[in-house]
Amino acid sequence: MSGDALSQDPAELKRRIDSTKAHPARVYDVFLGGKDHYPVDREAAAAALAANPRGYLDVRHNRDFLRRAVTTLVREDGIRQFLDIGTGLPTAANVHQIAQRVAPESRVVYVDNDPVVLAHARALLTSGPEGRTDYVDADLREPARILEQAAKTLDFDQPVALCLVAILHFVADEEAYPLVRGLVDALPAGSRLVLSHLTEDLNPENIRAVKRTYTERGFTFVLRSRADVERFFTENRLALADPGVVPAHRWRPDHDAPRPERPEAAYLATLDAIDKVRYHDIGDVTDADINVYAALGGKA
Ligand code: SAH
Repeated sequence: MSGDALSQDPAELKRRIDSTKAHPARVYDVFLGGKDHYPVDREAAAAALAANPRGYLDVRHNRDFLRRAVTTLVREDGIRQFLDIGTGLPTAANVHQIAQRVAPESRVVYVDNDPVVLAHARALLTSGPEGRTDYVDADLREPARILEQAAKTLDFDQPVALCLVAILHFVADEEAYPLVRGLVDALPAGSRLVLSHLTEDLNPENIRAVKRTYTERGFTFVLRSRADVERFFTENRLALADPGVVPAHRWRPDHDAPRPERPEAAYLATLDAIDKVRYHDIGDVTDADINVYAALGGKA
């Protein structure tokens, strides 16, 4: 465990936190059923939900994709190092807990630009004694700094899984593709890219309505097609693992994935109801419920 970022002056941290505007990490936390958000974030989540009543399923299935991808990488591919950019607020199972369950020596560096995530980052620095975790307070647009800080914990001569899960839709094309290229170029052979991304391919009407609710609140929101998502892999010569770029719930579903213990739970559409839905209460979904593509690729 490390955490230079946590030595930041609490008054300075407080100054950086803007509780008058919705923030992506906190709205995401609302949909996950978390507690680390402000009224303005709940208001943004409610507006998004009014536009797309099953929208919280995107978030929960996205998070479950991350769990399956990390588990697969550790269990089947021998990956022991993760660079998770756009970590989000700590939640029930963070990447290091998922990885260390299988391989206790796993190392994870978390990166986020939201000061609220920084304020809660201690919960990400709970590595078991055989592994390590660190938190870097940085923006995806500062790749050189991210790589330099991450190198304190990760060995860049060994494969690293770069996780860009539900973050790239906040970055415009002219920045997103070069940024991913720069990061992937810094990784050795055998490294992986874990990526998920909002799309309008699956349920265009609803996701466009959601996009409007977020852009009105000042978020950048770039929806990308399957071809656009594939481009993050192909232009970096990353071989896509099966089943390729697919709706998040179709990426290697397993029996730990949300099961329909309470099928009606999938049809709840108010925030109060969502707060009470346990993760495993989520019912079956169809492609039309999901607006997220998921994929995993590897560097030869
Ligand atoms: N990866 C997590 C959380 C996704 S929410 C998951 O999929 O479950 C998106 C996260 O990306 C938020 O925490 C937000 O603060 C962060 N984020 C958005 N833009 C960013 C940027 N430019 N640099 C770093 N983090 C960013």
